[in-house]
Amino acid sequence: MCSSEDFNFEDMDACFTAFDKDCDGYLSIEEFESICQALFRNDTGRVYGFDCNQLRATFDVFDFDKDGKISRDEFGYCWNCWIKTIVRPVSALLIIDVQNDFISGSLSISQCSAQQNGLEVIEPINHLLETVSFDAIFYSLDWHPSDHVSFIDNLKNRKVHPSSPVSAEEAQTYDTVIFDGPHLMHQRLWPRHCVQGSWGAELHKDLKVIENSVKVYKGTNPDVDSYSVFWDNKKLTQTTLVSQLKSKNATDVYVCGLAYDVCVGATAADALSIGYRTILIDDCCRGVDLADIEKTKNTVLNQFGVIVNADQVKGMVEGRDRRPELGYKLAMELKRKREEEESNSCSVEEENCTDD
Ligand SMILES: [Zn+2]
Repeated sequence: MCSSEDFNFEDMDACFTAFDKDCDGYLSIEEFESICQALFRNDTGRVYGFDCNQLRATFDVFDFDKDGKISRDEFGYCWNCWIKTIVRPVSALLIIDVQNDFISGSLSISQCSAQQNGLEVIEPINHLLETVSFDAIFYSLDWHPSDHVSFIDNLKNRKVHPSSPVSAEEAQTYDTVIFDGPHLMHQRLWPRHCVQGSWGAELHKDLKVIENSVKVYKGTNPDVDSYSVFWDNKKLTQTTLVSQLKSKNATDVYVCGLAYDVCVGATAADALSIGYRTILIDDCCRGVDLADIEKTKNTVLNQFGVIVNADQVKGMVEGRDRRPELGYKLAMELKRKREEEESNSCSVEEENCTDD
C-alpha cells in the first residue's frame, strides 16, 4: 500500500491510483488536497499548509471541463506541467553585480544609508556554489560606458525636464531627476561606477566563478540604466538571460548579490513577472536602504516568490523542500498561458471568419 506520508511521485498512474481513494476514476478536491499535502513538505517531511482558496484555484486550473473533479486525462496535464516541476525543478542561480565598485569602490554600499557591507555576500555565495548543484549559474555585471546616464558627473551632458523634482543645479548623488527626451525618464544619480574594463567593474577576486557559468552584461546603453538583469529600466532591450534560461528549461530562479533593493530586487521582480518560480536568498544579499529592502521583500512575497536563507536552498533545488507558494505561482502561470493561447486561437478564428 502506498501511503501519502512518503509518496515518491515517480509514476503518474501509480500516483493517480494511490490518491483516488474511493476508486471512482476521478480525483475530488479532497483527494487533490491529499496530493498537495504529500507534495508541499520540507525536507524533514513536515507538511506546509496550503491556503484553501489557493487549493481551490489550483484545482480549477486542472479541472478543464469544470465538472468539479479531475479525470485521468486532466491529471496527465497536472502531472507533466505541475507536479513534475515541483518535484524536479530546473534551478538557475543569478549572482547579481558582486563587483569591486559596490564593495569597496566608488559606489561602495557601505557608504549608503543602510551601511551594509557587500563583502559579506561572498562567503555564503561561494558556499552555495560549492554545495548545491544548480542547473545553470549566471553572473551579472553592471557594465557602463563612460558617458552613462546614471553618473552624476554626466548630468551636464543631458537636459533635465522642468517637471523634475530636483533641478540639474541642485541635484546631489542618490537624488532622482527627470531627463527630457521623446519619453521623460526618471533616473537616480549615482557616483561614476562599473565603467567597462575598469577595476571597479571586475567581479570581486574572492568570488568563486564556476566553469560553464554565464556572464551577463547590463547597463551598456549610455542613455538607459539597467537594474534588472532581464531588461533595461525602460524595457527597450532584453539581455541574453531570457533566451538562456529558456534554452536550459529553467523553472526556478534563485537571486542573490548586490544591491538588494536595486538590481537584486528589480531582477527578482522581472523573474516573477515573466513567470518564473522565484526565490530570493536573503542572507546572500546586501543593500542600500533598509526601507527599500523591506519593499523589495514585500514585492517578492506578494507575487508568490519565496525568501529563504542559503541553508535552505539545497533541499529546494533537490526537490526535497517543496514550497506551496511556488506551486501556486506555477499553477497561476499555467492558467495565464492557457488563457493567452485561448485568446490567440479566438482571434485567429475571428480573422478566419472575416476572411470567409
Ligand atoms: Zn550602474
